[in-house]
Amino acid sequence: RTLSLQANRLPGEPCPGVVMVLHDVTELRRLENMRREFVSSVSHELKTPLAAVRAYTETLQLGAIEDIENRGYFLSQIMDSADRLHELIQDMLHLARIESREEAFDITEVPIADVIENVLQVQRDVAASRQIALRIHPPEVEISVLGDEEGVRTILGNLIDNAMKYTPEGGSVDVAWGLEGSHVAITVKDTGLGIPQAALERIFERFFRVDKARSREMGGTGLGLSIVKHTAQAMNGGVTVESQVGEGSKFTVRLPRG
Ligand code: ADP
Repeated sequence: RTLSLQANRLPGEPCPGVVMVLHDVTELRRLENMRREFVSSVSHELKTPLAAVRAYTETLQLGAIEDIENRGYFLSQIMDSADRLHELIQDMLHLARIESREEAFDITEVPIADVIENVLQVQRDVAASRQIALRIHPPEVEISVLGDEEGVRTILGNLIDNAMKYTPEGGSVDVAWGLEGSHVAITVKDTGLGIPQAALERIFERFFRVDKARSREMGGTGLGLSIVKHTAQAMNGGVTVESQVGEGSKFTVRLPRG
């Protein structure tokens, strides 16, 4: 934006002093919009399970509590909504702690193979039950990253969990890692749904989901990838994504080499 200012003065009159203070409000406005959007997403995300708790409780109070066949169902719905609220709040607090740098990172040499093995212990049963080929491709020589062990686990846990979640039966998930200059690059590649081009640049935003209904159904909070991004950045690394709808996605995390 340009701003021009003309001081009108008659010939011979002394030039009046002009003090101009120009603030670039564009950045402030952008931050304010982001804050507003965030507050509105949070309220929406919390209101949905809260409304379910109220509705099911009210149904029970209005007589369904006598309905022996169905009351168990209403109660389990209340429990599910409470679990969802708990998960959302945990993820939001986690993200806030990383962003405000309050999360205490303990930086050590972390062997990648150990963390991946740890994450895969949980995922192997899921892979077997859904007939997904879950494979790892370790480099010939063992390598480590310089990072916080819990943080590295959070990053890889989220990426592998997503790869499994968004890959239909019969697909595959491949985890590979290797040196890339002063960094270690870890890739998680799946043959799943893929992410539309337009959504790729928004995928790391809080609460952004390609398909809200589907993601919620699968128990996602929409905060996983934001947590991945902020955790990687807090450890002087980063995360990128490449994807093709119908073919799959590949997430690459880069962390300093240990
Ligand atoms: P969620 O809890 O919904 O999984 P994330 O922040 O982890 O939230 O991911 C945000 C969105 O990105 C997901 O809802 C999904 O639409 C998309 N996404 C993430 N990982 C993948 C993947 N491996 N394949 C396809 N879509 C993905």
